[in-house]
Amino acid sequence: SPYLLKGQKALVTGASSGIGEAIARYLASSGAAVVVNYHSEGESAEKIVDDIKAAKGEAFAFQADVSKEDQVKAMFSKMFQEFGTIDILVNNAGLQKDSPLVDMSLDQWNAVIGINLTGQFLCAREAAKEFLRRGVKPDISCAAGKIICMSSVHEVIPWAGHVNYAASKGGINMMMRSIAQELAPHKIRVNSIAPGAIKTPINTSAWDTPEAEAKLLQLIPAKRVGDVEDIAKAAVWLASDDSDYVNGATIFVDGGMTLYPGFAGNG
Ligand code: NAD
Repeated sequence: SPYLLKGQKALVTGASSGIGEAIARYLASSGAAVVVNYHSEGESAEKIVDDIKAAKGEAFAFQADVSKEDQVKAMFSKMFQEFGTIDILVNNAGLQKDSPLVDMSLDQWNAVIGINLTGQFLCAREAAKEFLRRGVKPDISCAAGKIICMSSVHEVIPWAGHVNYAASKGGINMMMRSIAQELAPHKIRVNSIAPGAIKTPINTSAWDTPEAEAKLLQLIPAKRVGDVEDIAKAAVWLASDDSDYVNGATIFVDGGMTLYPGFAGNG
């Protein structure tokens, strides 16, 4: 509904492509004003903002590296200047730097932990400060604020060759639940989405040839690779009062990948 998030102010990190882009667009079409954070793809971010405005939505793009404290603080300052406050944070920015363990450099490890885990901490902290300062505005939402962390099925499925990535997402699980426990008394809700395999630039090689896609589908009981809209719908639900009783949860949107289909019929 175009009114579901009416009057709410949202920030989506890493919103210039893939899942973040879809979430930014869907939040906007649900009535939220949206900050489209990007790191390097300014043109794409501006195009998303133009599309949102053309549909009578409200948005602006802001460049910030979520792993850098000063840049995150500058982004929130700008948001408060433009929109007055924040109601919804979507901690989406993330990347992979894959390597076998023995060849993984400290730079590869630190880059992934810095963006995927520390970046979510920095943004959650800035959003929480504002939620606590402002409190609940009953005409806007039942909650004083909502944080949605983008995790992955790899918060529970070990992933050889990707120890930095899997460790960052495992970290998100305990970070999200600890923040949720700490902030619940203040009517702040903190949840995660754990996507399975979704068609985006992060994993093109896993689905862009028929051979690769067939191999991937063996891991997915739903027998299709996910679309960014599958995740955007979950994010808008978690951001809305429709999920008011959901706190500290990880919603797996994975076509059944975490059912471990390889075990089916092996009894
Ligand atoms: P993507 O590469 O399209 O999106 C990642 C976004 O993060 C990009 O827009 C990129 O510019 C941005 N980004 C990277 N470094 C940044 C930084 N330092 N500061 C700010 N932004 C930065 O891929 P995606 O699949 O849309 O990934 C989005 C999130 O979803 C990630 O957290 C990823 O781990 C998670 N995820 C994706 C899948 C999948 O199958 N695609 C599965 C599980 C989890």
